[in-house]
Amino acid sequence: MLHAHLIRLNEISEKFFRTFRPLHENYWFALRASVLVVIHFFKCEKCGNCCRYSPPVFCEDEVIKISEYLGLAIENLPLERYEFLSKTYYKANSPCPFLTDDNKCSIYEIRGRACRAFPHEWLMYSLVPCYCPAIPKALERAADFIANHTEDLKRAIAMMENELRLLASDSKFKEQMRSLEYSPLVKKLFEILND
Ligand code: SF4
Ligand code: SF4
Repeated sequence: MLHAHLIRLNEISEKFFRTFRPLHENYWFALRASVLVVIHFFKCEKCGNCCRYSPPVFCEDEVIKISEYLGLAIENLPLERYEFLSKTYYKANSPCPFLTDDNKCSIYEIRGRACRAFPHEWLMYSLVPCYCPAIPKALERAADFIANHTEDLKRAIAMMENELRLLASDSKFKEQMRSLEYSPLVKKLFEILND
């Protein structure tokens, strides 16, 4: 069963990575724009696997919000504090301590940017998490869509080069998009396509 899933995921990933490549001479522009198409088709199946197998790292501002939301002092949260490049982060153990027994997030409204950006951020770095059952379906629908709208997508990417560049080069813009689950970019892409 797992073996069959991995073979299928591998085939679909190869199809997706092959299909988007002609969209732009810059690989990363083509990839990021194609991930916006994946997001458009992505339907989370609420299995909780990402929270179980890939618990998040939170930034300090996010942990302050969690602390206020739960009414607990930061030092009493089930998170481990660490420093990296003069910044403070907090990591959760696996499975995430905020995941409930029925696969819900107990801090959903204020969950962090890493949670909101999953799994799309992985795809933007050419990584495909194997434990997300919704990814193969979204990748396949996106690959078919890209194959059928190649010229329209080339035009849209040319009009969105600035945003696609900012995603890589401007950390403030990137964090803003992660917290909004990239929705302004998906909206803009499909507005151009539907124009
Ligand atoms: S904080 Fe919520 S969404 Fe994020 S990993 Fe934990 S349970 Fe999942
Ligand atoms: S692993 Fe994928 S389908 Fe499952 S909850 Fe996470 S995002 Fe949703």
